[in-house]
Amino acid sequence: MPLKDEPVFNPDHTLDTPQYADIKEAIAGVAPRHGLRETDDYGVIAVSAPVTTNPISKRALEHLRALLKFETVNPPGNETPAARWVEQRLLAAGLEPVFLEPAEGRGNVVCRIAGATDEPPLLLTGHLDVVPVDLEHWDVPPFEAQIKNGYLYGRGTIDMKNHVASCLSIVEAIAQSGQTPRRDIIFAAVADEEEGCAYGSRYLVEEHPELVRAGWMIGEVGGHSMDVNGVRYYPVQIAEKGTALIRMTAKGEPGHGSAPHGQMAMTRLGEALAKLGNNRLPQHNTPVVEAFIRKLAAHQPMPQRAVMPLLLKPALAEVLLTKLLSSSQARSMGALLSNTVSATLLQGSVKFNIIPGEVSATLDGRTLPGQTGQDLVRELRELLGDDLSFEILEECPSLSQPRAESPLFTAICDTLKRHDPAGIPLPTLIPGFTDAQYFSRLGARCYGFSPHRYPREDNIRFMDLFHGHNERIHVDGYQWGVQMLTEVIERFCGLKLLP
Ligand SMILES: [Zn+2]
Repeated sequence: MPLKDEPVFNPDHTLDTPQYADIKEAIAGVAPRHGLRETDDYGVIAVSAPVTTNPISKRALEHLRALLKFETVNPPGNETPAARWVEQRLLAAGLEPVFLEPAEGRGNVVCRIAGATDEPPLLLTGHLDVVPVDLEHWDVPPFEAQIKNGYLYGRGTIDMKNHVASCLSIVEAIAQSGQTPRRDIIFAAVADEEEGCAYGSRYLVEEHPELVRAGWMIGEVGGHSMDVNGVRYYPVQIAEKGTALIRMTAKGEPGHGSAPHGQMAMTRLGEALAKLGNNRLPQHNTPVVEAFIRKLAAHQPMPQRAVMPLLLKPALAEVLLTKLLSSSQARSMGALLSNTVSATLLQGSVKFNIIPGEVSATLDGRTLPGQTGQDLVRELRELLGDDLSFEILEECPSLSQPRAESPLFTAICDTLKRHDPAGIPLPTLIPGFTDAQYFSRLGARCYGFSPHRYPREDNIRFMDLFHGHNERIHVDGYQWGVQMLTEVIERFCGLKLLP
């Protein structure tokens, strides 16, 4: 997620120093043109609608607690017991789920409720696997679904058994209501998202496309509350960066470890890695990020309202990212503005006393919408020179849609506004990767929307909990979100499930 809910600009910094003169000048130019006052004229925060629980959200909470108790840490995943449990629930609701296990223990469940028309189906999907836990950092056991101080704790509470439980409860409610939705509704609880989707969404899309082909998809990441300088946003994911796994190789003179020399491949590789670590690749303003920054800024107090859009000016972005943002903010925001690479694996000599003639680093590359692995390699050559070689080992294109707007997005925004009048839906690009990469290949327009919120005073940052220690969800905030998701589906599919 691009921004954490902390003050966007470090209050310890001031613009009243010579090196920020250009930024001050730009603010002075921008503010009047946009009808902005120099003072903070934001500050009215409406009180959100009271928490509503209903039978669907209550049952979703029970489902979530049950799902958390299945240890589906990936690797190895072992999603089958959880998938079988979901299957049983669907059968009990009178539905006809399909269970698929592409490898032992890697269970997936797909279920369809037929619609009245041939309008493109809606796919509701979530993954059953979770990332590993570092037990010594957890205050509460991660697989016992304990509730403490209003929060439900457990690995998977926000990534993303919450969404699986919400969708399951809603699908059960549709089945029990006896109503026929306007379009087909497909529910897919899948395996293996955290390790690349081979036994989950990718397998379903490649081997059983007829089961999961949809025009629309609701999955992760988004729908959670995110407070920035007292303003509450709800990110809705509409785009994902692509991936390019690249091997970067340096060559040099081999030799004996006892006699180092000036032509060592390791030295060359080390220089290249240092350069990568200390430089940003060229900035590319994509429509989705531009819209994200402008919308985020438009609701901010001054001076943030004027300063944030300056991130779109490459010459100023460098200063803003390095001098004004905290390192975590700069990391998140920087990843939205450029292609990136992180060196993650090294291959050197076969023996400690042999100077290798060739060494390589594996680079985890991430590409913006509109950029390819080849574009990224070109940028690496420009930065590092021609004496290194680059090989693209694997590539997955980015996922993006030209515009966030659609009937489904409108339903999401209207529902959010009704339940939190001061909240601002914010279409976002995520630097990571989700099942949407695969489901979109069959034509689905994908939105990351698994809504929940945190009490403002708890100062919870979603991204600290996402894959983090003490992962938890606010019990009332979750049920509030289930109600919203239910209303979105009611509206989009012509159903009436809530009183
Ligand atoms: Zn996830």
